[in-house]
Amino acid sequence: MKFTDDIFNKTQGEITRIQDSLLGETLDYVRKNSPFYAERFKDKPRLSGVEEITGLPLTSKEDLQRDNGAFLCVGKERVSEVVATTGTTGTQVFVWLTENDVIRVAENEKRHFQNAGFTPSDAVLLSVTLDNLFIAGMAYYAGLKRLGATVVRLGPQSPKKHLELFETLGPSGIVAVPSFVAAVYKQADKEGIPLGSLPFNKAVLIGETIRNADFTSNTLGNIVQRKALLETFSTYGLTEAAIAFCECPVKKGFHSNPDMVFAEVVDDEGRPVPDGAPGELVVTTFGVEATPLIRYCTGDVTFKIPGTCPCGRAGARIGPIIGRKAQRLKLKGTTVYPRTIENALAEIEGIENYVIEAYSGPVNEDRIVVKIGANATQPGLADTVREAIKAKARVTPQVEILTPGEVDKILFEGNRRKPLVFIDRRR
Ligand SMILES: [Zn+2]
Repeated sequence: MKFTDDIFNKTQGEITRIQDSLLGETLDYVRKNSPFYAERFKDKPRLSGVEEITGLPLTSKEDLQRDNGAFLCVGKERVSEVVATTGTTGTQVFVWLTENDVIRVAENEKRHFQNAGFTPSDAVLLSVTLDNLFIAGMAYYAGLKRLGATVVRLGPQSPKKHLELFETLGPSGIVAVPSFVAAVYKQADKEGIPLGSLPFNKAVLIGETIRNADFTSNTLGNIVQRKALLETFSTYGLTEAAIAFCECPVKKGFHSNPDMVFAEVVDDEGRPVPDGAPGELVVTTFGVEATPLIRYCTGDVTFKIPGTCPCGRAGARIGPIIGRKAQRLKLKGTTVYPRTIENALAEIEGIENYVIEAYSGPVNEDRIVVKIGANATQPGLADTVREAIKAKARVTPQVEILTPGEVDKILFEGNRRKPLVFIDRRR
């Protein structure tokens, strides 16, 4: 694939023209090489550019799961990597990559690291999983190599192991899940190590949201920011599209690489929503050889940010992920996502664990029950919880205080291996 190296110096108009031409190439490619798209697009007219992309049908995760092999555009001898993500029914969905696709993934991450101020002089500790068919660890590893930085490939080892390596190797950056960084801080507190003495000053954070919709730090973001001089960059990745979006130093949304992906934000009918309005993120990949995707529904709800970023880069930016579309709840006409409720609960002292349950309510309404596990009966805890949720989510769900053991039973019901914090019991 040919990368448009100076893509960030282009104006929005120039980017659109580049994307028009990349879309044309991509559609020709999938019509010829993808059994799935050859069939799906056979009666569809040719498009003149990205403006007309809504004329094409959406691709769902169910499509990718059902016809998984029919998305592969190359012979087996050209496949270099296979990665997987969990499908809607819990089974794995596979995504294949050629050698060039791995280079594209590396270039995508390299640019994000560069924009975040990482240089070849940085040593970056990867505390994410590098195996188990996950794309993220591999992508960061390949991106840092392409940048020329030193990779400290620790993986998901204990916080204690991390502290040891901070002391011996003194990495200047870290790639981690935010709640894991919090666990490292906890261990440092325990060992009497001041957070300010930890060597890393840049963190690329994946998997969990650290910002509210207005870009201010949420509870988790504030916890990570306990190390005062740490600069955090939130990133949003999508296995299926082999792409990640990342913040720049301005922290006003996630940048994409416009020569690698076209991003739309759409309503339930697949029509574009106005800039700033919430909708589902839909992506079309550019330059992918093995498993290209056209108008792929991510299931994640966000909003589009118009205009050139104060950092000077044009091209589509998206806001923080508000929630999963499938988990959208309606209460008295207000839309709320479990993630917002979780965020409210994270700020309250004395909560041991919790579970959020959704039930079908009256017409077009859901009933939300938040069950809190708390050790000693704290007077007024239920009221505190209700007020915190109302402040963040503008709804007041039903709140019940139980023992942590009772909540655990629900979190692990049906002998689940991992706790399920949001349980959808709607019909
Ligand atoms: Zn920017």
